[in-house]
Amino acid sequence: MKNEWLRKEIQNFEPYRVAPITVPIVINANESFQSLWDLPEVKADLAQELAAVATNRYPLPYADELRELVGAYCGKKAENILLGNGGDEMISLITQAFLERGDKIIVHSPTFDMYAIGAESMGARAIAVPDRDDMTHDTEQLLQAIAENDPKIVYLCNPNNPTGALWSREELDKIIKAAPRIVLLDEAYMEFAEDQEASLLPELDNYLNLYILRTLSKAFGLAGARLGYLAASPEAIDLVSRVKAPYNLNVFSQAVGRVALRHKEKVLALVPAVQQQRRALLAELSSIGRVRVFPSATNFILLQSPLSGEIYEALLGKGILVKKYGAGSRLADCLRITVTTAEVNKLVADTIREVAC
Ligand SMILES: *Cc1c(COP(=O)(O)O)cnc(C)c1O
Repeated sequence: MKNEWLRKEIQNFEPYRVAPITVPIVINANESFQSLWDLPEVKADLAQELAAVATNRYPLPYADELRELVGAYCGKKAENILLGNGGDEMISLITQAFLERGDKIIVHSPTFDMYAIGAESMGARAIAVPDRDDMTHDTEQLLQAIAENDPKIVYLCNPNNPTGALWSREELDKIIKAAPRIVLLDEAYMEFAEDQEASLLPELDNYLNLYILRTLSKAFGLAGARLGYLAASPEAIDLVSRVKAPYNLNVFSQAVGRVALRHKEKVLALVPAVQQQRRALLAELSSIGRVRVFPSATNFILLQSPLSGEIYEALLGKGILVKKYGAGSRLADCLRITVTTAEVNKLVADTIREVAC
């Protein structure tokens, strides 16, 4: 096998790898600290559903029952929903369906890396519009970049990973109306926003160029089950479905998803506690001298400090893994910390205070 046999676009790509995790407290990937199996009423249903799964048969290509449940959760019809193997697959499908060599896409920056990586793998060019110093979005610059570049796709992450920043519906409306073609609005963390009005799901019918991406990995705590979805007009769903593999969502994931959605009130009952812990941790961290934190509408907090390297090591020393960013990136002096229990948050804040007071 030879590297040169690869398509030119991906010859410099590296496979995604993560170092083996050896510490007990893992708060680097915005995972939930609770699982469906921890909820006694849900656990019994889950065990029953999984025991009844027919693994000798192919799954339903569109996960019909789960699609209905997700549609109802979103206040939409089943035809408005396409399910897949995590939000990541949804990004890949959009990329494959629409992008070709020479196309331009627009992202704001910093944001989720998968948008630009996916686009570049198709030979498209990513144009990044920097967020402001305080990590708020620069809507004016974004509108200007749209006008200048005629992009095939505009990617908006709301609330944003990794900054936590939230766009208002009014600003999003301006951007989506200005976009000449597709907008992918990633609402992976929307359930954690205090202001649920910021979601564009209720407005979906007003935007024919819009895909909204959501996932069960974050607020539903199902990162391991790989369940993501798009919400869009039935015509838009039909377009991306053309590149979907027939059986993209396996029978186990479909079963887990059905149980989670049937118990959605119980599963999502954890969200207010996360919001409360986020407020508490933000307040705690913003009282530390050499640390800057940014408002967050998600289940994580971005922290900036000239001592970020020392803080990262001190946390590791306490058995806590947070997310750090590569040298040379705009986030080189930043850490991203997933909000979890009061106990862990206290340990995190105390450790940071010792280093950076
Ligand atoms: C986690 C995440 C997703 C989707 O993740 P999956 O686990 O693949 O569903 C999408 N967008 C952002 C910004 C995320 O952080």
